[in-house]
Amino acid sequence: MDSTDKVVIAVDGTSGSGKSTNSRLVASSLGFNYVDTGAMYRTLAWYCLDRGIDVNDEDAVSSTVSTWGAQLAERDHALRLEVDGYFPEKEIRTAATSAVVSAVASYPAVRQWMKDIQRKCLSFGSMVMEGRDIGSNIFPETPIKFYMDASLDEREQRRAAEGVIEDLAERDRRDSQRKANPLVVSDGAALINTSGLTPDQSSAMMLEYIKKKLSEQGGPDAS
Ligand code: C5P
Repeated sequence: MDSTDKVVIAVDGTSGSGKSTNSRLVASSLGFNYVDTGAMYRTLAWYCLDRGIDVNDEDAVSSTVSTWGAQLAERDHALRLEVDGYFPEKEIRTAATSAVVSAVASYPAVRQWMKDIQRKCLSFGSMVMEGRDIGSNIFPETPIKFYMDASLDEREQRRAAEGVIEDLAERDRRDSQRKANPLVVSDGAALINTSGLTPDQSSAMMLEYIKKKLSEQGGPDAS
C-alpha cells in the first residue's frame, strides 16, 4: 500500500491489448481516477508537430518538455495534460501523432518529466494508471500490477475497428527495445491475455484480483 494509503493500480502492456478499455472499466467500478499516460506522451508529440519541433532532435524535444508548461487537469475522474488549458483530444489519435510518439517517448529527459508529473497524479486520489512503465518505473512500489497482451491479429483488428491502421508490431518493438524504461513485464505483475475475451470478462478478472490483493493488504474495502 502506498504510504498515503491511496491505491495505485498499474496497468502496462502492448499497444491494442485493451489497457485503456479495461483500465477505464476498472477505475469506474472502483470509483478511482483513470490516467492514460500514453495520452500524455501523445500530447507532447502533437505539441512538437504543431510547433514544428523536430521529433528526432533529442535536444530540441528535451528542452521543449522543460518549458512547455503543460498542466495536470482532472475531468470526469480522468487526469490529463492540458497545454494552455487545451486538451488535443482528436489530434493525439491521428496517424501522424502515432507515428512519432515512440520517438518522443524514448528520450530520458522526457521520461523524467513525465515521471514527475505522473507521480503527482496520486495527489488527486486513488487511481488506475495505464502505460508501458507504470509498474516498473513510475510506481514500482505498488503491489497491484497488471501486464496485458493479446495476439497481434486481434490487436490489429481492434485498432482497425477504431479506424486506425497502424504497424503495431513496430511500435511494440520500439517501446520494448528503447534504453530508457522499456516495456517489460514488471515483477509481480498479473498477466492478462485479452485474446478472445470481451472487456466485461477481462475487467471482471482484474477486479477479482484487485479485491483479493486489497483484502490481503488490509486496504480500503473494494467489495
Ligand atoms: O498507450 P498509447 O498507445 O497511447 O501510447 C502511445 C506511446 O506512448 C507508446 O507507444 C509509447 O511509445 C509511449 N508510452 C510510453 N510510456 C508510457 C505510456 C506510453 O513510452 N507509460
